[in-house]
Amino acid sequence: MASKRSDAFSVNERLAALERDGLYRTLKNVRIGGPFATVDGKKALLLCSNDYLGLAEDGRVVRAAAKALKHVSQCSSRLIAGNDPSMMALEGLLAGHRGTEAALVYPTGYMANLGAVSALAGKNSTIFSDELNHASIIDACRLSGARVEVFRHNDIDHLEKLASRTKGSKMVITEGIFSMDGDSADLCRISEVAERHGMMTIVDDAHGDFIFGPKFAGVPALAGVDTDVHISSMSKGLGCFGGYVATSKGIRELLINTSRQFIYTSALPDHLCAAAVATVPIAKKGDLQKRLFANIAQFSGMLKDAGFTLGNSKSQIIPVIVGAERKAMDFSRELLANGVFAQAMRYPTVKKGSARLRVSLTALHGKAHIEAAAGVFAKAGRKTGVI
Ligand code: PMP
Repeated sequence: MASKRSDAFSVNERLAALERDGLYRTLKNVRIGGPFATVDGKKALLLCSNDYLGLAEDGRVVRAAAKALKHVSQCSSRLIAGNDPSMMALEGLLAGHRGTEAALVYPTGYMANLGAVSALAGKNSTIFSDELNHASIIDACRLSGARVEVFRHNDIDHLEKLASRTKGSKMVITEGIFSMDGDSADLCRISEVAERHGMMTIVDDAHGDFIFGPKFAGVPALAGVDTDVHISSMSKGLGCFGGYVATSKGIRELLINTSRQFIYTSALPDHLCAAAVATVPIAKKGDLQKRLFANIAQFSGMLKDAGFTLGNSKSQIIPVIVGAERKAMDFSRELLANGVFAQAMRYPTVKKGSARLRVSLTALHGKAHIEAAAGVFAKAGRKTGVI
């Protein structure tokens, strides 16, 4: 119950409205372990982790972090006393990985988006943003103060129409692999439009990084396009923590000098940088991606056969579309009761009425896990009226 002083902020009314609309969120106690998790005391197969390659618990990665653990954090920002040599080593590796001149590490991918977009764009620029872009991109666009034009999802004709009637400095920003749909941006066409209209291109490749493309360098590499600014998270394919921007030397310098999310916050702890340094070569070997893609083919085939609607996913993110928010929650609860943990995604993460279970597969899953999970999905889907 909120106090009297918080009445002015309608705390109780707002919570009641969320409850009424099926949009109330609660925290579960989750302890992860391999392909499983213990969720509020119950063991279940984990189908909602972003550790796509299963590297977060890999002994080599954990040992690298432990070996570097001399203090919990540098307790300082990068420009003061936080710039441990491991950060520079990591940035060199990440630039090489993405094929750019330079890279800059941020404490999280969320901050990398906020920091890069708001430092580059301002009130005299226009940002063209895909309508399904992640919340961190939406927030970054708002924070920049730029004019924001939202184009229909992956509708490059719409992007071109908007760009052709806009003057001044322009940038286009998209996800590489869309976080709630698992489909990929049409980077070839986006890049052509950007070329025609002199637009800077920014790709948030949090979910494509280390998974797709030659040497697993991400979706721009897969599409064979040159992107001005790559933004990514290290807590997904890489199984580590933190965010980064890979770009030109000049843009890196500008970010160091003007990006408030870089300047005014403490540096990523150095043991996490050391862990990422050790993990990059492991992630780029390719054996884990092979296993992951076999899992994607097996699971999506089985779910389609069972009659589920899966959207246009081409990746490890498989949206099982439900529609109504409450039904998605019932479906998720029923799955958990039967030993499968997959979370429902609802507004504002996705559009109202397009609630879904966002299944994410990892290289930790084996054939037997996938078969068992598909069986539970079919049974729970029938019971809750999803299929
Ligand atoms: N971009 C996208 C597309 C994401 O899905 C996420 C995280 N869900 C982020 C950025 C933020 O990354 P981080 O978790 O490292 O803050």
